[in-house]
Amino acid sequence: MKKNHANEHPVQDRVKDELLHYGREMIARGLTTGSGGNLSILLRENDRILISPSAVAYAEMTRDDVVTCDRHGRVIHGTRRPSSELGFHLALYDHRADIGAVVHTHSVFATTLACMHREIPAVHYLVGFAGHKVPLAPYATFGTPALAEAIIETIGHSNAVLMANHGLVAVGPDLAAAFNVAEEIELVARIYYQALAAGEPQILSTQQMDEVLEKFKSYGRPMEKSASGH
Ligand code: 13P
Ligand code: ZN
Repeated sequence: MKKNHANEHPVQDRVKDELLHYGREMIARGLTTGSGGNLSILLRENDRILISPSAVAYAEMTRDDVVTCDRHGRVIHGTRRPSSELGFHLALYDHRADIGAVVHTHSVFATTLACMHREIPAVHYLVGFAGHKVPLAPYATFGTPALAEAIIETIGHSNAVLMANHGLVAVGPDLAAAFNVAEEIELVARIYYQALAAGEPQILSTQQMDEVLEKFKSYGRPMEKSASGH
């Protein structure tokens, strides 16, 4: 297999640009700093994973820095080392067929709660971007199989997981969705932190969240025509 020729594939180039865009957005929206966090996309057409390189600042990252791997983590294309968290990205794609992209951030409020070993309950309905809550995975060293295992054992059907003393992982069918989860959950984390600081947050019930999740199914979808055609 050829490595590092300029044009891997036009589709991969488009997807690499998307990855670079959301990497920069992570910085622009204050969800991480420097080279912290990482992102990946699963290319279903050829079963490849495109992932951010390890220890390269998003501001300086170029198409050539993005690493292409197979589902076993073998590097197919790229000169850089893949993200040190490749293991949990691969584990998430293996674990849930609905996951098409993974975003990992060190966003400050989510990470603060993760450092307190607190999961995020349904303190605000926007937690629905993750599910009924954001669960907390026990601590394990970054970049280890133990961390991947902790995440897989914790995630369930959720679209986000806190990693104790580390940060947040968000997943979605595509990168835009996973990024959106990371951003909305950071907002909920901030609200939860403030509510805890101010007093006693009131938590929504399972039934109230069931209603939210039901409404989320159609939120942002085009209007459906009524039976009468109006
Ligand atoms: P990478 O630069 O290797 O992706 O590591 C950043 C990180 O956040 C590790 O958890
Ligand atoms: Zn990290």
